[in-house]
Amino acid sequence: MDILIKNISTLIQDADHILNDKDILIEDNKIKKIGNILPEDLPSHCKIIEGDRKVVMPGLINAHTHLYQSMLRGCRDDLTLTPWCEKVIFPFIDIVYKDCKKYNAAIGYYWSMLSSIEMIHNGITCCIDMDLNVGGIPKAWQDIGMRGITAFTIANRWVPKEFCHDNNILKEEIEQYIKEWQQDYSDEGLVQVFLAPSTLFCCTPELMEWVVEKTEEYNLGLQIHISETKWENQDALKEFGTTPLEFLEKINLLRRPISAAHCIYLTDKEIDIAARRGVILVYNPKSNMKLSDGIAPIAKMLKKGVTVALGTDGPASNDQLDMFEEMRMGSLLQKVFSEEPGVLSASEIFKMATENGAKAARINAGTIEEGKLADLIILNLNKAHSAPVNKVIQNIVYCGKNTNVETVMINGKVIMEDGKILTVDEEGLTRESIKQGEEILKRIDFNKP
Ligand SMILES: [Zn+2]
Repeated sequence: MDILIKNISTLIQDADHILNDKDILIEDNKIKKIGNILPEDLPSHCKIIEGDRKVVMPGLINAHTHLYQSMLRGCRDDLTLTPWCEKVIFPFIDIVYKDCKKYNAAIGYYWSMLSSIEMIHNGITCCIDMDLNVGGIPKAWQDIGMRGITAFTIANRWVPKEFCHDNNILKEEIEQYIKEWQQDYSDEGLVQVFLAPSTLFCCTPELMEWVVEKTEEYNLGLQIHISETKWENQDALKEFGTTPLEFLEKINLLRRPISAAHCIYLTDKEIDIAARRGVILVYNPKSNMKLSDGIAPIAKMLKKGVTVALGTDGPASNDQLDMFEEMRMGSLLQKVFSEEPGVLSASEIFKMATENGAKAARINAGTIEEGKLADLIILNLNKAHSAPVNKVIQNIVYCGKNTNVETVMINGKVIMEDGKILTVDEEGLTRESIKQGEEILKRIDFNKP
């Protein structure tokens, strides 16, 4: 059905273009027209949404996450990356893999649904999810109407042996997954597949090369964690004589579009490589703070012309999927890091959470323009915590919360209206997802020495 959002008080097309008193006509899954649309120009059977005293903006894009970790909120707040993987992440994965083998468990569907419900309330219309490849994850997106990139996580070393499959079996699984889930880039489908070698230290260079060849063959995106810790850089120096991103450049793996999460310890040379090769970096400030990884030099990266997107990372190290909070924390962290309040302005971080996220996800969205995908959200900023509005993007970045998000539209379809998700039984699925997660959590001792 066509949709008209009329009398929009504030229309944020992108961080630099803000219009007042406009209408938007949505036809199928695209934005057809922006302007003042006359009643006689409206198609018959057009749904009308009132935009008076509202803000319409592009949907937020969570450019790096691990949705399975929504089952692991609130577990440990005293560990750095490696012991955190050993004590929090691996025990959970172990149970999930064993259960899935035994019962073909639907747990992936539930964590994906729980996370999607949270993200939609938080105004997130698309995510890049490096997940556990257990099935059911994209099915939840299709049911709820969320756009998602299912990034097949790949590792053949460093992680516990029982998580590593024989390379040939792994390659078969990857190809099968691509064939099952990859949808056309023609904008019709909600789901796309990326390949995600977890890190350089988790994948042999031979496997990395095979992965890049597959992204060429199927025209897929690629996401990887890079330089999240100092240890990772030291390890790469020991094995390859160079830091991780420089090594990927050296063996010509940056020939494909890639996005790289974290990038805290990139050298100046690597920042230049990222700018030159169009590597999109994904800033994950809250997760980096919780695991005390360090602070990515975002201001320096932007100055050098690198495209930076924004992500929550997984909820075991965040512990939310909330891009309003990520924008706020991300901006404030850079100000204190550089001791310059003008660094990483509200507009810059807003762009990272919208336009640049769309680039990382390789989707035709992230700004509100005619011909783009109709992935947008409607905010009511007239609340005690967010009004009066002075500069709209600053109010959104420094005051925005999920209670400001009234309506969420993805692929031209209204998924949430007046704060209520319309596409699934939100209450029932939330209850069932929590129950499924609790059953697994009972079996894990997170304080085991
Ligand atoms: Zn991550």
